[in-house]
Amino acid sequence: MANARQRPTSGTEHEFDHPVRGGTKAYLVGGGIASLASAAYLIRDGGIPGKNISIFEETNVMGGSLDGQGSPEHNYVIRGGRMFTEEAYTCMFDLLSFIPSLTAPGKSVKDEIYEFNARIKSDSHARLVKNGQKIDASAMGLTNKDRLDLVAIIATSEDSLDAKRIEDVFDPSFFKTNFWYMWCTTFAFQPWHSAVELKRYLLRFIQEFPRIHTLAGVRRTPYNQYDSIVLPVSTWLKDRGVQFVMGAKVTGMDIKYGQNGKGVERIDYRCDGTQHEIAVGSDDLVFVTNGSMTAASSLGSMTSPPRLVTKDEDGSLGALGVAREGPLRFRPAVGLQREHQPVEMAVFHRHFARPDVLRPHGGIHWQ
Ligand SMILES: Cc1cc2nc3c(=O)[nH]c(=O)nc-3n(C[C@H](O)[C@H](O)[C@H](O)COP(=O)(O)OP(=O)(O)OC[C@H]3O[C@@H](n4cnc5c(N)ncnc54)[C@H](O)[C@@H]3O)c2cc1C
Repeated sequence: MANARQRPTSGTEHEFDHPVRGGTKAYLVGGGIASLASAAYLIRDGGIPGKNISIFEETNVMGGSLDGQGSPEHNYVIRGGRMFTEEAYTCMFDLLSFIPSLTAPGKSVKDEIYEFNARIKSDSHARLVKNGQKIDASAMGLTNKDRLDLVAIIATSEDSLDAKRIEDVFDPSFFKTNFWYMWCTTFAFQPWHSAVELKRYLLRFIQEFPRIHTLAGVRRTPYNQYDSIVLPVSTWLKDRGVQFVMGAKVTGMDIKYGQNGKGVERIDYRCDGTQHEIAVGSDDLVFVTNGSMTAASSLGSMTSPPRLVTKDEDGSLGALGVAREGPLRFRPAVGLQREHQPVEMAVFHRHFARPDVLRPHGGIHWQ
């Protein structure tokens, strides 16, 4: 029987079967999918009323890296088209299973995406091209040594891989194989990226191996991800009273280290040229997206180059040095890392600060 919590709902009160924690406030830094998803689960599983949740977003639009905006008169900007799979995106599709579609009444966003992909299937007929000619990409071109190296990287712990680059753990010939060309163009890898990130992607997407030459496993959203995901989730949150504090750049946090970990006591943010501060209560929660893959990026046009933005203007709290010891592991020796995936955040609380406090299926772990 379907779980009642996963049906699209329109009510705002008592719609989920759990005790309401009306005394707790939640502050989320960053308006990307990580914060949007966290807010939705705080309401659904954590029993925190929407009106007690505030999301601080530096820009004037929600969605972070999942952007999509513009007009026919001026231009459209979409940084990228996201690929999903049914197997690896269980958390995202769980979220979208209780968010109503804005365009298909009575359906969830998950239903809408699944129905779209049942009609429009990915089926590449020219996955690799050489000298203008399609080449047969059905064979990976791996040697036995390459295969062993792939198994080794999967079996090696992240601690052992440490700050190694991908090029440190494969022979140079590996980077000329069909497998590498398909893998690196599907997931945007470079040989100098972190071996740990490659290991994570191999584990997450190993089921794509037999179909990577056609991309048959790839799922798309009907519209760009801002319209297909960010807008319906934000609408659901707004309907439940979540506060979106736009144009609000969090400039610092007072973090206290105690016996039970670290907790935030104060949040500073700048909005409309004015500095504000929030005293965080002892039962309150603070969630921080402490880095963004699109931070410090800027847009050019057909007539002007993009403005050079330096790290000084990167507002992410990782860049500000706030969360260096958090659950995200910084590996400066490898240089620029690949992006982290959604819902990988630092979680702070006055009493506890363990990354496992937010359990996808078990709700919030209170102690
Ligand atoms: C071109 C491109 C292609 C991609 N392709 C895929 C794909 O195929 N599949 C896939 O799964 N993923 C893909 N991704 C990655 C995916 O889009 C991101 O991992 C995801 O959107 C990150 O979400 P987030 O909430 O963690 O961070 P972000 O979306 O980066 O959100 C962070 C937000 O925090 C805000 N912020 C930063 N600092 C502060 C501050 N101090 N105060 C207030 N606000 C602040 C930023 O303005 C931003 O809105 C792609 C990304 C890009 C750019």
